[in-house]
Amino acid sequence: MKILITGGTGYIGSHTAVELIKDGHEVVIVDDLSNSFEDVIDKIKTITNVLVPFHKIDCKNYDLLDKLFKEENFDGIIHFAGFKAVGESTKEPLKYYENNLLSTINLAKLMEKYDVSHFIFSSSATVYGDQPSPLSEKSPLMETTNPYGETKKMCERILNDYAKNRSDKTIVLLRYFNPIGAHKSGLLGEIPQGTPNNLMPYITQVASKKRDKLFIFGNDYDTVDGTGVRDYIHVVDLAKGHLAALNKANKGCSVYNLGTGVGISVLELVETFKKINKIDIPYEIVARRAGDIATVYASSEKAFKELNWETSLSVEDMVRDSWNFEKNIE
Ligand code: UDP
Repeated sequence: MKILITGGTGYIGSHTAVELIKDGHEVVIVDDLSNSFEDVIDKIKTITNVLVPFHKIDCKNYDLLDKLFKEENFDGIIHFAGFKAVGESTKEPLKYYENNLLSTINLAKLMEKYDVSHFIFSSSATVYGDQPSPLSEKSPLMETTNPYGETKKMCERILNDYAKNRSDKTIVLLRYFNPIGAHKSGLLGEIPQGTPNNLMPYITQVASKKRDKLFIFGNDYDTVDGTGVRDYIHVVDLAKGHLAALNKANKGCSVYNLGTGVGISVLELVETFKKINKIDIPYEIVARRAGDIATVYASSEKAFKELNWETSLSVEDMVRDSWNFEKNIE
């Protein structure tokens, strides 16, 4: 199939482009480069031997996208392009609502206009809010603590409502848990701008001595060792989840969790990183971060049963590949 990947030079988008190309799909990438770099296109070429057509377009710009859809005959859209910094979203909510909603609506309108059959949307486990894990797709959607999370819920709703009238379309909402890791070549990975908000990029920057120590946000949660528990998933397994959705999802709107089903604490992840990479990670326990939840992990049975998708990479792979990528960008 010919697939438009928006946000295709970003962290998850670039890994997904590689997996799609390896499976024989044709990929076109759109990105506004607000949080990524154009040289990712060269890196995808080094890995796959395919030079992916790239267009620098902001998905809020309907007219530019319309021109592209007219020229290309897309079978599917995988929509990653979106703002994702939770903290920033509370400071600049309008920027988040405008960007994330308008981009999704523009793409859905173009799906309709050009009769595109597939739409895969990047959603997040954040839509489940604070409720007991494991989280299944049947768990109710709850109030999230920030505008970023609300944009994910709203985009899901918009696509779900659209699908109700268009039973010929395949619309898939993928709820990601915590992607970490990098491509084993060391060419693709996560490059945070400024101080990392997420745990793994912070750990790798401590490992490379860009930062003195890790601050662990609370050790008084009701978890195995008091630190927060999350479901970390290797970004390559996550990328393969998109391929499975593209190749196997049924018509109509469906939703799948993409996680491993296993919860790991902050301290467990830090200890695994230290052991596998043989590098010390100094840390200090500080106060809880506002809005954080004690424990979040997936039930990923639905994706396993219906998409025949399961994760194959371990936490050891994740910490090794994350560090391998960080060493490459030094
Ligand atoms: N965390 C931490 N120090 C950091 C960043 C994150 O202790 O510098 C903790 C955070 O409190 C949570 C876990 O690591 O328990 C994962 O946080 P992240 O921001 O990566 O993902 P999210 O909270 O969005 O699931």
